[in-house]
Amino acid sequence: MTKHIFITGGVVSSLGKGLTTAAIGMILEARGYRVSIQKLDPYINVDPGTMSPFQHGEVYVTDDGAETDLDLGHYERFTKAKLTKNSNFTTGKIYQGVIEKERRGDYLGRTVQVIPHITDAIKEAVHAGVPEPDENGAVDVALTEIGGTVGDIESLPFLEAIRQFGLERPEGDCLYVHITLLPYLSCAGEMKTKPTQHSVGKLREIGIQPDVLICRTEQPMSEDMAKKISMFCNVRRNHVIEERDVDFSIYQVPLDLVKSGLDQLILKHFDMPYDQPTDLGFWAAMVERIRGIQQSSESVEIAVVGKYIELHDAYKSIYEALTHAGIANGVKVKLRKISAEEVLDEGVGVLEGVHGVLVPGGFGERGLEGKINAITWARERGVPFLGICLGMQCAVIEFARNVAGMTGAHTTEHSPDTPYPVIHYMADQDDNTAKGGTMRLGAYDCDLTPGTLAHDLYGQDRISERHRHRYEFNNSFRKELGDAGLIQSGVNTERNLIEIVELKDHPYFVGVQFHPEYKCRPLKPHPLFRGLVAAGKALADGQAADSSHKRNQNAPKETIA
Ligand code: GLN
Repeated sequence: MTKHIFITGGVVSSLGKGLTTAAIGMILEARGYRVSIQKLDPYINVDPGTMSPFQHGEVYVTDDGAETDLDLGHYERFTKAKLTKNSNFTTGKIYQGVIEKERRGDYLGRTVQVIPHITDAIKEAVHAGVPEPDENGAVDVALTEIGGTVGDIESLPFLEAIRQFGLERPEGDCLYVHITLLPYLSCAGEMKTKPTQHSVGKLREIGIQPDVLICRTEQPMSEDMAKKISMFCNVRRNHVIEERDVDFSIYQVPLDLVKSGLDQLILKHFDMPYDQPTDLGFWAAMVERIRGIQQSSESVEIAVVGKYIELHDAYKSIYEALTHAGIANGVKVKLRKISAEEVLDEGVGVLEGVHGVLVPGGFGERGLEGKINAITWARERGVPFLGICLGMQCAVIEFARNVAGMTGAHTTEHSPDTPYPVIHYMADQDDNTAKGGTMRLGAYDCDLTPGTLAHDLYGQDRISERHRHRYEFNNSFRKELGDAGLIQSGVNTERNLIEIVELKDHPYFVGVQFHPEYKCRPLKPHPLFRGLVAAGKALADGQAADSSHKRNQNAPKETIA
């Protein structure tokens, strides 16, 4: 029978609960167990698809086309868990289901209430998050992270539901993990346990006694402090775990958790074999590689030119994918985050010196021309370029305007009357103007043309990638743009859609209509990011060789000897 771990957070938000949840999943997989992971978010939006990236960070898309919380990106990067639309539920989605049932008359005239109807729906969502047994067997441990912070009004029904869930399962089948903060007061020179005591107090009021406390700290947690937390929170001393801030990579987290013995105590709780510590050698080797790269003086600088650049979380998966590509190429990737509007206001000079340009996906017109100017700069100077979704659409517009002579070429998203609608909303797409869940979403196949850069990079004929957009490359311009030199190297043959464009006489110029960042893993870097960083490294090495050649030429004779 599947065991369940519920992870809640206390004191403040942004404690890295998603990361810790993903790391726990990874540790259990390393012991040979199959895990599932889901997140329950207490906000009222039905999904984060309609929320601004400034509010909520990136929207992570699953293969089955669910628009989900960015923590699901951590889950997929750390584990093999298969994530679906059942891996993320919000208050809005839970209520939507209950209200639909009420309208159908399924409640047979009863009064519909938070307890039991909403809490029942939450418990069903927890069950739905566990995939049915298949050829890989059944899920051994299901992890459920509750978003928000204990004490919030809106998380109450979720906490009540997971309390009931544990009560209804055989004893010992559920484990409650609470992640808190031990703030360090520099004026007093000490860490404080009171916020943790209060947060656990709140949980116990609802009826949840946490089995494990994971204490986020900047400084080491002393033995005295751990004992104090143990006593005040009614949690065994060895179940009070320290999780210190990592110094150079988030991928260190699972290693630190194993060092604190979290793996063994989870297994012991579930009556699973636990004597040997988890062997994370394969993961530790990767983390060592990251450490080496961080310490090296060599680096490749990639400009990310976007609209939501001020918020790191808005392009989370892209930044992670660049880190993975750095690991694969053995080089540190430095980010130059550039707001697309800055390129417009200050000119392309802000790009000077970078070894690659990445234009990510996005919505809205703001900054669009800045992105296009950045692409012209990269194309003309032979600087490696990767355009993702809107970034690919901008590359097509740029090429149409500046190479194919189509003055005024545009996307009909922002210029419905353009003389050259090279990107457009396809006539056969649903006439659906609602904002939520109405895009081309999720995984689609794409056939690659042999002999192209895309085919070389992937090394296969057919790939599958995830999408999140409404607009498409306009097929009426296929020939004209192709004749002008825009190679169309990837096609969705089923719907006859261009998915990848590239340029011949350029070291690395690729635009993709899909989002490769969702499928990039630290131990399995994505070919397109790996290729971008490799090309950036070649450019950096070339520049270095060039400047040392120049230096040598200018140097006084005796130093050359
Ligand atoms: N706004 C564009 C579209 O809907 C691009 C979307 C994206 O970059 N995700 O097609």
